[in-house]
Amino acid sequence: MGSASTNDIEFRSVAKRYGSVTAVSGIDLAVPKGAFVALLGPSGCGKTTCLRMIGGFEQPSEGTVHIGGEAVNGVPAYRRPVNMVFQHYALFPHLDVAQNVAYGLKQMRPRIAAAEIGRRTQEALEMVRLGGFAKRRIHEMSGGQQQRVALARAIVNKPKVLLLDEPLAALDKKLRTAMQIELQSLQRELGITFVLVTHDQEEALSMSDLVCVMNAGRIIQVGTPEEIYDRPATLFVADFVGKTNRIAATIEPGAGPIRLANGLGLTKPARVNGTVGAAMVALRPEAIRLVRDGASTLEGTVTHRIFLGSSVEYSVEVDGLGDFLVTADRRALVESELAEPGERIGLSFDPNAMHIFPA
Ligand code: ATP
Repeated sequence: MGSASTNDIEFRSVAKRYGSVTAVSGIDLAVPKGAFVALLGPSGCGKTTCLRMIGGFEQPSEGTVHIGGEAVNGVPAYRRPVNMVFQHYALFPHLDVAQNVAYGLKQMRPRIAAAEIGRRTQEALEMVRLGGFAKRRIHEMSGGQQQRVALARAIVNKPKVLLLDEPLAALDKKLRTAMQIELQSLQRELGITFVLVTHDQEEALSMSDLVCVMNAGRIIQVGTPEEIYDRPATLFVADFVGKTNRIAATIEPGAGPIRLANGLGLTKPARVNGTVGAAMVALRPEAIRLVRDGASTLEGTVTHRIFLGSSVEYSVEVDGLGDFLVTADRRALVESELAEPGERIGLSFDPNAMHIFPA
């Protein structure tokens, strides 16, 4: 846990209960100033509850939440230097774009001069590239544009922290990808702390500096996208973030090998996390190469081939171990080299690509 001056948001031993339901517990989290952090996890794991405690819409049952070094338990939402963008934007349909953005500023006391409101509104609209849309009606805007109006409204009063609750969920895939890039540049430009709630691992990995993986009301791992993907702390993280093959195995002590469930002994990878005995190996589909001739670690039969454009996904029934998923980068293949369903094939991988977890 860092010092209060460098962390914009801190959770210290936070729990939240609703009657007999524990939404989250034992939450310790430090978000550095100006970071883009994603709270990632399956439905019901407590992401939104954490977000709402930062926003002041909920109060912790235990522990403290700090913003900018100050404990904010009990401080109501409107007194926090925080704004929130909701999944469904919550725009006023009867107001135009500029009126939607200016709405919060007009409510402020002491009052802000009209000229100042106009200037800040225009500035916020330009930040989200809607400079020329001030007089448009909300229903004349596309989904992506409405999303930007919601963003402009959230940044217009210059919050220290912006909370985003599944902000891109309503957009189609292509627009979502474009908005991911825009959100990331906007965050860099503004330099304010963004906290994003998402159950979409691709979104979390692609946009944020820090990913906080949650499950069943707890934080399982916090790290950079690369750390989370390349060094998952648990089998849950390995499964939830990206695809993974699971192989039952036994770790023999000392210099002994890893013995896979089919009896095959392999050199231990560099990281076994001290595991001895019954273990589960996680292996990414892209860490495996399909080989026709020469040395392979495992052998099997191709059962399915899924062409994905830039890559190809294979299901391979591996002798003694069951179904494996293998992803091949298409650039590494030419048409004549694609493996065919029914074909016998070798699988090869670097032992260091295996992630070992206690079973
Ligand atoms: P989703 O992705 O589905 O929104 P989430 O990860 O954001 O899920 P939360 O909404 O934080 O999860 O909910 C965490 C747990 O707390 C769930 O079991 C939920 O049912 C429960 N919960 C949340 N709000 C309340 C409430 N107001 N009253 C009772 N239980 C609640």
